[in-house]
Amino acid sequence: MTELVILDAPSPHFDARGAAVDMLVLHYTGMRSGAAALKKLTDPKPRLGTYRDDVPPAFRDGPDEQPMPPASAHYLVEEDGRVFRLVPENKRAWHAGAASWDGAVDINARSIGIEIVNGGHAFGLPPYPDAQIEAVIALCGSVISRWRIPLMRVLGHSDVAPGRKQDPGEHFPWKRLADAGVAVWPRPQDPAA
Ligand SMILES: [Zn+2]
Repeated sequence: MTELVILDAPSPHFDARGAAVDMLVLHYTGMRSGAAALKKLTDPKPRLGTYRDDVPPAFRDGPDEQPMPPASAHYLVEEDGRVFRLVPENKRAWHAGAASWDGAVDINARSIGIEIVNGGHAFGLPPYPDAQIEAVIALCGSVISRWRIPLMRVLGHSDVAPGRKQDPGEHFPWKRLADAGVAVWPRPQDPAA
């Protein structure tokens, strides 16, 4: 089992939970670098212009001057396997946006969110390095056992926001996570289908 190295990088973007934790939602960052993603997720006053060079033009959300809705996650996992803790697990982080699963709509209230550093579709779907996936598996295992999260509720952002979100993307090794006992394979069907 990979030894988890967790570093604190507190984000101001969280509030109180309104539900018990019973889901785990995995994301990719979709930016040029882990450093940029970490800065954005902990930025007290995020604005699009601050990050214009970190996302290709076709993947930007609007004019540079525009404020961005603040975003966060509980953890960010770097490509080398370092894990940053942004928000305490007992607080609600802001990672899922408009989303739903199995009748639940406030996904942030009931989930732990993990951002995985990867350029994603905006950067040609780069592979996820081994060291990173080992750390993701170790972190997921720890979260799942402590909160007793059912494996059917270990989901991708694209599962809870289909049509709007594509992360963590088709290169994410769900089968490897399933083989390690922290996800199910095959994946659950698109809930909109
Ligand atoms: Zn996402």
